[in-house]
Amino acid sequence: MNEAHRDAVRELSHFIDSRRVAGTSGRFGDVFNPAQGRIAARAPFASASEVDAAVAAAKAAFPDWSETAPLTRARLMFKYKELLEAHLDELATLITSDNGKLLADAKGEVVRGIEIVEFACGIPNLLKTDFTDQSVVGMDSWNLRQPVGVAAGITPFNFPMVVPCWMFVMAAACGNTFVLKPSERTPSASIRLAELFLQAGFPKGVFNVVQGDKIAVDALIEHADVAAISVVGSTPVAEYIYRESARRGKRVQALGSAKNHLVVMPDANLDQAVDALVTSSYGSAGQRCMATSVAVAVGRIADELIERLTPRVRSLRIGGGMEPDMDMGPLVTAAHRSKVLGYIEAGVAAGARLVVDGRGHTVPGHEAGFFLGGSLFDQVKPDMSIYREEIFGPVLSVVRVPDLASAIALVNAHELGNCSSLFTSDGAAARAFTRQIQVGMVGINLPSPVPAAWHSFGGWKRSLFGDQHAYGQESVRFYTRYKSVMQRWPDNPA
Ligand code: NAD
Repeated sequence: MNEAHRDAVRELSHFIDSRRVAGTSGRFGDVFNPAQGRIAARAPFASASEVDAAVAAAKAAFPDWSETAPLTRARLMFKYKELLEAHLDELATLITSDNGKLLADAKGEVVRGIEIVEFACGIPNLLKTDFTDQSVVGMDSWNLRQPVGVAAGITPFNFPMVVPCWMFVMAAACGNTFVLKPSERTPSASIRLAELFLQAGFPKGVFNVVQGDKIAVDALIEHADVAAISVVGSTPVAEYIYRESARRGKRVQALGSAKNHLVVMPDANLDQAVDALVTSSYGSAGQRCMATSVAVAVGRIADELIERLTPRVRSLRIGGGMEPDMDMGPLVTAAHRSKVLGYIEAGVAAGARLVVDGRGHTVPGHEAGFFLGGSLFDQVKPDMSIYREEIFGPVLSVVRVPDLASAIALVNAHELGNCSSLFTSDGAAARAFTRQIQVGMVGINLPSPVPAAWHSFGGWKRSLFGDQHAYGQESVRFYTRYKSVMQRWPDNPA
């Protein structure tokens, strides 16, 4: 690293008790600008004692914060929404810089995060509970939803704003205080989210951020003062955090990996299906949990589908996230790019037909960037690693099946069950698919069915551990404890 570059490297920090705090552990992680392939920032990695300081700040803030009226919290959320809107470009630029995704995508992410805040603005209504007058004569029954205490969140690299918002926004709206441990690969946005939260008027200590890796995560899991943990990440990590946190009596919300299938029926509108496959398989270089990674071609449609997809994948416009009119940017790190390359090689070795080969793709002016072209495989079989495992890159596998029943059986046999889509013009087929498919989110004639902020997000099978999905009403249940009250007063009003 030369001197000028060293100066350009941003030093990141933790955010504890409402101020930026420099790391003291002596451990740091490099944050790359994936389009340039160079280090853009350095994030401190928290030790257990730094995590302890963040949890202590959250714990100290909890008694007062949990006693605020939901309407007060809602008003602060309205203010936060305004601030996020005013800083949309700044937040999106930070996301693109760390993650590599296109600026337009990053702006879309900020908007999605704001939608969670908008949902949280309705918290007085969301916390309203049930009441039974005269559950027996002279007695009333009702329930309360009370905050759980200090909650923690562990988030992945691919959505540095929206996934944290699923967690800290809903937790705080419900009266909890929070410690976020963002991805060490995309940590920059988290600090601005915390600063703007403070600027909106939320009290000191309600939202804290610790940067770091497994050491920080384990410190949160082991901390006796953390009551609830939310994690979004790969299945092995989600399962580990779920198991270790549940073992310690914490409530856990744990969302894992995905292998999303998009089924194309012979009666589908093929123009729409091809557009959907191109945007959902290659957008963000395939690094979305809702990306399509398997196209299931039913019956005679397969040859035409491949024929139509091939030129589209070959002509993807690939470049830096800050450049206009691109279809996709780079992968997040060199290591992740190598992993994706390894899958492409494994697919070739296993006998799948590599129709479009994205290996060796370079982008002029970005020779050091972590780019790959789009790859398209045909004749993929369920026993191949490119089918079984999540690649999380710009690689689409086409599997051919004879009919809808086989398509449904294929999706249902996969160990992951995040989302799945069907393209068809047959309502009965759509209804059967919707009812029989074993995934948490279903799209009909659309890819990547991300639920709106007032619904909830989550998969089935090994894409989710525990039973609570993210955001929406499910998150209100996760971030509150249910209390049932029965009340009787002497019935002598005089
Ligand atoms: P990851 O599992 O590597 O990391 C997720 C988080 O866990 C990070 O904060 C990381 O620091 C931490 N972590 C990593 N290894 C750990 C370990 N051994 N012990 C404890 N903590 C650890 O995931 P990623 O690569 O950042 O993100 C991509 C993954 O996230 C993909 O598998 C993707 O499908 C998944 N994802 C899922 C959803 C969903 O809603 N289901 C959404 C976004 C991403």
